Amino acid sequence: MGEKITLIGAGLTGPLLATYLAQQGYHVEIFERRQDMRKEDISAGRSINLAMSVRGIHALKEVGVYHAIEPLTIPMKGRMIHGLDGSTHLQPYGQREKEVIYSVSRAKLNMELMTLAEKTGKVQIHFNQKCTHVNLEKKKFTLLDRSSSKEQVLPFELIMGVDGSASAVRDAMTEGGKIDSNYKPLNHGYKELTIPPTEDGEFQLEPNALHIWPRGQFMLIALPNMDRSFTCTLFFPMEGDTSFATVNSENEITQFFEDYFPDSIPLLSNLVHEFQTNPTGHLGSVYCDPWHVEDSAVLLGDAAHAVVPFFGQGMNASFQDCTVLNTLMSEHGGDWQNILSEFSRIHVKNGHAIADMALENYIEMRDKVNDPQYKIRRKLELALENQFPDRFIPRYSMVSFNQIPYSKVYQRGNLQLKIIEALLDLDPNGKTIDRVIVEKMLN
Ligand SMILES: Cc1cc2nc3c(=O)[nH]c(=O)nc-3n(C[C@H](O)[C@H](O)[C@H](O)COP(=O)(O)OP(=O)(O)OC[C@H]3O[C@@H](n4cnc5c(N)ncnc54)[C@H](O)[C@@H]3O)c2cc1C
Repeated sequence: MGEKITLIGAGLTGPLLATYLAQQGYHVEIFERRQDMRKEDISAGRSINLAMSVRGIHALKEVGVYHAIEPLTIPMKGRMIHGLDGSTHLQPYGQREKEVIYSVSRAKLNMELMTLAEKTGKVQIHFNQKCTHVNLEKKKFTLLDRSSSKEQVLPFELIMGVDGSASAVRDAMTEGGKIDSNYKPLNHGYKELTIPPTEDGEFQLEPNALHIWPRGQFMLIALPNMDRSFTCTLFFPMEGDTSFATVNSENEITQFFEDYFPDSIPLLSNLVHEFQTNPTGHLGSVYCDPWHVEDSAVLLGDAAHAVVPFFGQGMNASFQDCTVLNTLMSEHGGDWQNILSEFSRIHVKNGHAIADMALENYIEMRDKVNDPQYKIRRKLELALENQFPDRFIPRYSMVSFNQIPYSKVYQRGNLQLKIIEALLDLDPNGKTIDRVIVEKMLN
């Protein structure tokens, strides 16, 4: 194959991937359906801010852009749990100082990544260009220019689908029978709301935490922004007695917040208006296998593995895809047949694992974090980490503060769960650690 690669999508993954490719010597053309957000005041799409952790940071450091992103981030040390009675307590994410995650603006990060890609001199981004069809046999793709409404068909040598969860590239691969792909909707959606700064321009809540109001079947969360506001997200069933289908009118919204999130009402100064006018987002998981077709097409990011946002890992996983592909490029030179088949062989299972773990984490966040039993287990988990350093690492830490492949995290997490069960069988208060049992199970 020649030196030119075609990317569809300039969201978070596309420009990062393009930079890696340019650094490997390739010329890259990206086609993005939206306008250039650096020139037009458009929202970056869903979720105003994101939690970034080690996998994402590693990729940003590898391409040399982290120094520009770091000043835009706010460290979050743990979950600040808001009880129904207005009480709060912090549950740290880890027990070491460095074990924090970072809130970052999606739009700012996206803009920095696009500029970085262009600065390589090898990446061109074409905006307002929607990919409407990909012909994998003929190696051609169709673009709709959204400003002129004209269509054109262009050739490609290698096309990379970084076009998000509703990927057109994935559709073509699936329709051609080249890959199996499955979208699992969550039946819970989300709505974003804002906690503005105080009149003095201060944060209204502790800034160095991810706030959670866990309420069983649903939850409200809040992440800090650089302008001292918080973006809140209500994750809520789409249908049912208490759901987006039943909470609509001013009275219903106010009553719902009074019943479940009374302490948030004085903070959300524009609650009813935002609730009624902000869009309701849908959530779901994409599982597909393999992620490539011969040496001509591959999927990365949400196109390959959209996950629900409850582990804060969708972007981090997408960035890790780029790191993994970059390593394979270095190992296999320009042999794309091998690079892509290895990529699917070693990495698809990691996409599936984070998709499953993200679903499990929804239940932990919305339901379990305030449960006394959960707190006993969490204490025990941290004690085990202290007594068996590097051999017992809490699952959250393996995901967020390590780069262990997600599929291994899943396996190790399940084994650790069995160890915790065994210890709790002996002492339901979780205060006794039988080292012999733990050693035996860890080996
Ligand atoms: C509510 C919410 C909260 C989240 N929070 C976190 C978090 O805290 N931490 C985290 O790591 N992840 C989080 N995520 C996940 C994260 O947003 C995604 O994993 C990430 O955006 C994936 O990047 P991407 O580039 O693969 O896809 P996208 O960001 O979706 O980008 C795809 C791009 O392709 C373009 N495109 C789509 N179709 C076409 C087409 N046919 N032709 C041309 N262009 C096209 C789109 O316009 C877009 O620019 C969250 C997601 C949601 C919904």
